[in-house]
Amino acid sequence: MPKPRRRTPDPRNPRFIPGIYDYCDRWCERCEFSHRCAQFAMRSHDRPDDPRTRDLENRKFWETLGTSALTAKPALKITRSTSKKHAVSTATIEAATAHEKRLERRARMLGQRETNAALTYSHMVDEWFNNELRLPLQHVRNLERRVEKALTSVASAKGELVRLNDCVEVIRWYQAFIYVKLCRAFMSFVEEEEDGALAATRDSSGSAKVALIAIERSLAAWVAMREMFPEETDSMLEILVHLDRLRRNVRRKFPKAKSFKRPGFDDKA
Ligand code: SF4
Repeated sequence: MPKPRRRTPDPRNPRFIPGIYDYCDRWCERCEFSHRCAQFAMRSHDRPDDPRTRDLENRKFWETLGTSALTAKPALKITRSTSKKHAVSTATIEAATAHEKRLERRARMLGQRETNAALTYSHMVDEWFNNELRLPLQHVRNLERRVEKALTSVASAKGELVRLNDCVEVIRWYQAFIYVKLCRAFMSFVEEEEDGALAATRDSSGSAKVALIAIERSLAAWVAMREMFPEETDSMLEILVHLDRLRRNVRRKFPKAKSFKRPGFDDKA
């Protein structure tokens, strides 16, 4: 007999935190709040597992990595200020397009250093995994040998492997994400400069905060990897220095990012 389908969740249910998905990192598998997220519920209401259990496990995951909090805002939005103000006619569409382009140019100019650095970071990560893949593979083989010689327990070797896998996952997830979030932060910044009403929402700070969290988590993952391969740290050190510089520059450009409150994520006890 076919199983009865679960009822589609109602996004107005008070258990959902309004707008929580605006400043998350879209990594639902690792989210601590999927049971409070209407978007997640809509997408996965047929899944048999309990999101609350998974969220608790995810909280432990981030605590173990040494950083907490997570985030992101949806992909690049259409300029809200322009789309609302202009009536639909060829002339106004052209004006709106020109306006949009001007904002984009200004955003690119303002964020040139940081977005270029984020793009460079993404390439550095690819390069590292292309050139240094032997390191994790060697690490796995060493662990196998140590288990065979009873120098380490199976449980502890497994723990090491999980740790390595977690670090790689974190680095790969945020590799391009940082660039995308920074582009959004600078675009929102120029929109807010133009439109006082948008300035009140401080989307630029929220997006910058999400980018900063991604940077911090990536840093934590690289530090953990460096501890695993203490004899081969030069290439990782270069990445760490680059990321840390990017973090400082982003903090300088978005001083209010730190105090920005993301719905749900920054309300936790
Ligand atoms: S808040 Fe969590 S569950 Fe919802 S979309 Fe973001 S990452 Fe996914």
